[in-house]
Amino acid sequence: MGRNETYFAEVALDRALAGHRLSGPEILSLFAADPGAVGAAAHEMRLRKVEPTLATFSIGGNIDHTNVCNVGCAFCTFYRAPGAADAYAMSPDQVLEQLHRQVAVADVKEVMIQGGINPKLSFDWFLTVLRRIKSDFPDMHVDFLSPEEIRGLERQTGRDARDIMTEFQANGMDGLPGASAEILVDRVRTDTAPLRITAGDWYRIVDTALELGLYVPWTSQVTGLGESHAERVQHLVELRALQDRDLDRGGRGIAAHKVWPMRLNDTRLREVIGVRRNDEIIEEYIQQVAIHRLALDNITHHRAVWRTMGYQTAARALRAGANDLCGTGSINAVDSVLETHAKEAPRVSQKVRHGVLTCIAEAGFVPAQRDAFYQVIRHHEPAEIAEARDALQVAEGDWMRGGFSYAGDPVLNPVAKVIRKRA
Ligand code: SF4
Repeated sequence: MGRNETYFAEVALDRALAGHRLSGPEILSLFAADPGAVGAAAHEMRLRKVEPTLATFSIGGNIDHTNVCNVGCAFCTFYRAPGAADAYAMSPDQVLEQLHRQVAVADVKEVMIQGGINPKLSFDWFLTVLRRIKSDFPDMHVDFLSPEEIRGLERQTGRDARDIMTEFQANGMDGLPGASAEILVDRVRTDTAPLRITAGDWYRIVDTALELGLYVPWTSQVTGLGESHAERVQHLVELRALQDRDLDRGGRGIAAHKVWPMRLNDTRLREVIGVRRNDEIIEEYIQQVAIHRLALDNITHHRAVWRTMGYQTAARALRAGANDLCGTGSINAVDSVLETHAKEAPRVSQKVRHGVLTCIAEAGFVPAQRDAFYQVIRHHEPAEIAEARDALQVAEGDWMRGGFSYAGDPVLNPVAKVIRKRA
């Protein structure tokens, strides 16, 4: 990096800390800036924007109702072609059965339901699921489908997103997760998933959801798909503009944002893009968390990812701009995936909870469980944190040196492997 570029990045950080919005070129300059300085600035911003002593997490249900998908993204290891030996599609009964189990295991008050684009599931299937959830659990917050799935239903039914989501909303849909974003630049999408929803359709559907007053709990950027830094920045600037539009018209805006790196090891893109070393991925991830906090000045909550990155890395992200630990919904996804090990579910659930509490405490924050709207339900007391550390056998100071890792844990590792594939 030349002296001029260093100077430009330093000025950008100063401007961000002085409360100015960063331009696209300024955001781009941060990719080559000192990662420590960018992380420190992002942490400072986080302390100013949200309650500085707390880091939050939620416990939500998670149901993947089908893995059959006709989009076939080259980075996805979850989907199966129709007729494949391990393809599945749940009936509404099975969705409800799974939700009842997740409520029993972890007392979930919110659930996210997503799956592949399976044309065999009729519009009525979705309405039935929504109605039955609200009939059994009237207060359950239901985040339903993704922009890609809404686009799939547009094609299937000939109706538009507004019409579809209006009917879903009347039957119990509370939110639309801003999933299926990856990199919101069509050049990247065409190269990695030619049938994927276009960036324009993604923005149209999320904007419509916001206009309808649906909750958009999070959106994300997924890196490592062969995109340039400039394409990442284009995504951030356009997403920020979408958020401005909704806030200007009096909407709630998107509640949270996360960034995470795609692991290509088991995907068809492995040979095309290549696989990077884990330590490189981790360092870049921390830098990206910080850049996103500084760039997306109008999204309040930024989330650290533990289930694909590990607890140690997530704890670092909580000190580089993130304020919420995401992935805790997988407490319940675990139960869904490992149905044959259902008797293990409470033990796994407990262990994940211990990991989450320890991770947040090690990052220097008080762990606080929140609801779907980022309202704190309860703060965790020092005694609970001590109990979590004891249960995990984390010795003082071990954490950041890698003394505890779920990869080596006989209960969590098989689970982590399964949910890593689904991330
Ligand atoms: S990422 Fe979603 S749309 Fe793409 S193949 Fe996987 S399930 Fe289908």
